[in-house]
Amino acid sequence: MASVDQQARAETNGGQGPATIPVENPATGELIATIPILGPAEIAEMAARARAAQPSWDAIGFEGRGKILRRAQKWMLDNAERILDVVVSENGKTYEDAQLADFGYTVSALGFWAKEGPKYLADERVPSWNNPVAAGKKLMIRYAPVGVVGVIGPWNYPIANSFGDCIPALMAGNSVILKPSEVTPLSSLLMEEMLRACGIPESVFGVATGDGSTGAALIAEVDCVMFTGSSRTGKAVMKAAADALIPCYLELGGKDPMIVCADADIERAANAAAFYSMNNGGQVCISVERVYVEEPVYDDFVRRVAENIRGLRQGAPTGIGTVDVGAVTFPPQIEIVDDHVRDAISKGAKVLVGGHPRAGTGRFYEPTVLVDVDHSMKCMQEETFGPTIPIMKITDAEEGVRLANDSTYGLQASVWTGDVKRGEALARRIQAGVVCVNDAQVNYTALNLPMGGWKASGLGSRHGANGIRKYTKVQSLLVTRRALKREPFMFPYRARRTLLLRRMFKLLYGRGNRD
Ligand code: NAD
Repeated sequence: MASVDQQARAETNGGQGPATIPVENPATGELIATIPILGPAEIAEMAARARAAQPSWDAIGFEGRGKILRRAQKWMLDNAERILDVVVSENGKTYEDAQLADFGYTVSALGFWAKEGPKYLADERVPSWNNPVAAGKKLMIRYAPVGVVGVIGPWNYPIANSFGDCIPALMAGNSVILKPSEVTPLSSLLMEEMLRACGIPESVFGVATGDGSTGAALIAEVDCVMFTGSSRTGKAVMKAAADALIPCYLELGGKDPMIVCADADIERAANAAAFYSMNNGGQVCISVERVYVEEPVYDDFVRRVAENIRGLRQGAPTGIGTVDVGAVTFPPQIEIVDDHVRDAISKGAKVLVGGHPRAGTGRFYEPTVLVDVDHSMKCMQEETFGPTIPIMKITDAEEGVRLANDSTYGLQASVWTGDVKRGEALARRIQAGVVCVNDAQVNYTALNLPMGGWKASGLGSRHGANGIRKYTKVQSLLVTRRALKREPFMFPYRARRTLLLRRMFKLLYGRGNRD
């Protein structure tokens, strides 16, 4: 199947004009827009404008920037329907999925960073007592904007995972260029329209439409890159960032495990498994991608999950409340999902629900429940990123932890148990950037809680203090107010002063028991 990228290149004007990308509605197959692929020269020009605009954006301070973000928050609330229509039409997800994450997350993030950003980036005073040479001096940490930040985003959350990461970068005083996914660029263009309407100065925020080549060109021009996407592309981004010698932050793929203990609330766990594996069509980096259930409750759990998923309505959303599971957004994804299902079946798995691409208009894969799965199967090892849920029986939670950690990924995980103390103890043994106990995914809405992947799932984190400090350069300030004309360690070296200093070090650091 030709990728959108390949189709787009086929649409170049016989090699005469700029290449364009057709944007289609995955749920209907309808062509909804055509957008240009920006090349290196256009990106360089855009970056130069962004760089020139940045100092005055920095100079308006937190209050000025916060004002624009708060206006944007209101703009989003006033334009909710239009925003949801754009996200749904280019992504093929349901209105509810668009509302909870793309809309709900972003509208809260605008307010959060406007309010908390200045606190996270406030100058910090640090004590000077730990070395006699620096004692008595004023020591400060300051967070200065890096300059121009490049944000490169995926297609699964065209606003939350693309524009969402621009918000703290802007609040920190940077100019930002956003390179949205070639599959879903229209939501980002709408966010650009929003910021303009809210009074952001010219060139402080820009959207660079295009494909991977545009993303690569962007990395060469910016001072820092924030990338969200697959682990495969993440490696290429990190190599390009190394060449440019700029910091890069990577939010990559996942294979989130869910461990269900026998003492868990099985009804809640089963509802959650169905929801967190199927919401957004299973195209969530933090989807429940594999489930391990203790033997005594396995049959009950599987029956409940299968019943729940069998009842889901799938199709092109025609309004709110019309469908539960949307389309497969990115064309090649349907082959990956089907390959994982076929591979599992060939190795002995059973399909309880679904198991096929859906015939007819639009691009859909049936919500699918797999059982009798094991770790020889792709569906338990590789990121599926689709509406599937493989469930495996385990002897005990120990086996669950071992299997959960048997993965190259380490994005998120969840543990389900009636004993929260035990749940937390198990959570601490799982190799993942976030582990929820009796919950999943909702940690993403807690903007003061860091979210980032371990292992092949990423580098760095978003949210919390580091979610904004990463877009800054730390500057340390040392200020000396009152001092001797000549410090005792200065020239000329004299034996008496040298010995005096040595005695002082001994006095300061030589006491205490150290066995
Ligand atoms: P992708 O890696 O194919 O593309 C992501 C972005 O990178 C796109 O904008 C693309 O044009 C751009 N790109 C491609 N090649 C590039 C290059 N060489 N240099 C610079 N940019 C380049 O990912 P995708 O298919 O759009 O998104 C799905 C993936 O994203 C999944 O693996 C999912 O788990 C992951 N994801 C992770 C998070 C997270 O927070 N960890 C969130 C959402 C999605």
